[in-house]
Amino acid sequence: MKYHIVVVGGGPAGASASYHLSKLGFKVALLEKESLPRFKLCAGCLSARTLKLLPEGYKTLILNTIKGGKLGYRGLEDYYVPADKEVAYIVDRKDFDYFLVRKSIEAGTELIQAEFIGFEREKEAYKVYTSKGTLIADFIIGADGAHSKVARLLGYKPKGFKSLEFFTEGDLREEVIIEIGWVKRGYLWVFPHGEGISVGVATTGDENLLKILKEYSLLKGIKYRHPKGWHIPFPHKEPFLGRDRILLLGDAAGMTDPLLGEGIYYALWAGKILSQALLENPAEPTKAYKRLLKPLIEELNKAKRIGDIAYRFQKVAYNMGRDYALKNFYKVLVGDKSYRELYWKGWFSFIKHLKI
Ligand SMILES: Cc1cc2nc3c(=O)[nH]c(=O)nc-3n(C[C@H](O)[C@H](O)[C@H](O)COP(=O)(O)OP(=O)(O)OC[C@H]3O[C@@H](n4cnc5c(N)ncnc54)[C@H](O)[C@@H]3O)c2cc1C
Repeated sequence: MKYHIVVVGGGPAGASASYHLSKLGFKVALLEKESLPRFKLCAGCLSARTLKLLPEGYKTLILNTIKGGKLGYRGLEDYYVPADKEVAYIVDRKDFDYFLVRKSIEAGTELIQAEFIGFEREKEAYKVYTSKGTLIADFIIGADGAHSKVARLLGYKPKGFKSLEFFTEGDLREEVIIEIGWVKRGYLWVFPHGEGISVGVATTGDENLLKILKEYSLLKGIKYRHPKGWHIPFPHKEPFLGRDRILLLGDAAGMTDPLLGEGIYYALWAGKILSQALLENPAEPTKAYKRLLKPLIEELNKAKRIGDIAYRFQKVAYNMGRDYALKNFYKVLVGDKSYRELYWKGWFSFIKHLKI
């Protein structure tokens, strides 16, 4: 079967790209290897700015509304900073991702439940090998997540956080808890998840995350359950966007924020940009994609710089949270501020707290 575009992976990145491409009139096949709806390890936290990127009908998917956050240091001390607005929302990834895929099917995408195996270039098109046969496409979009086969075939292996997470009972409803001081570069979280909570930890280092989660749970009286692990890839310099007429986005491209590992917002945003790039310059889509994606890349770069400093000076970052960082971070989450502004203005507060 011949398509304009074969999108590999039915997570937020692939669903967003296929939704926008189908709306533009491209003939799109979306390949997903798991039977849908499928489980995805994730805290399911959507920053408020994400809502503007969602198709209509998402409201019933929201399990919790976040109105503030607690910042803790090594489980020893913490403080709560309320937000002026709703800053984030919690969804269950199984339902959320399935909703996005159904929206893209409504827009005209053909869902093929099969595994992507590989590809071969044939003149101006690609032969796409799947577990259920061969497809022909003008373009391939790699949205197959942190362990992307498309990226690997192009020679790219993203790096980033390794993480562990479990879901358990808990009575958090409208706030999140972020704990620093537990790992060298990364953090521990407790987020509400409907009637329960998710507890997780992410790091770029080689700490024993299982031990840390057990220790934290014991300290806070949280019912510990055996966690699952997954990677949260972020760019060390720039995301890998692909080559020729093969484009990458989402975790496959290493497109999560290196400060906290937020990936859904960037995956959805990149899907929209990618569709514009293909429309604008189908002969050299990577060129247009790279240019249109600059604001997103700039945000990831600044988030990385903030992360590098905040995790190096964790006690200073903890103290900064009280009077500068959290309130301003909320502004980033709702889309009133960029990481760029947070980074430059944060220097004054950082120096003040460093002196203290
Ligand atoms: C523990 C944890 C907590 C997180 N918490 C948050 C959070 O609260 N908020 C946030 O914004 N981000 C969070 N993230 C990051 C977020 O989950 C990812 O950034 C996001 O899922 C990226 O979407 P994606 O579509 O690129 O990849 P994925 O969601 O991983 O989707 C990839 C899809 O491709 C499919 N696939 C893979 N290989 C193939 C193949 N060969 N053939 C066909 N299909 C294939 C997979 O089955 C999957 O459905 C978290 C991540 C982890 C690990």
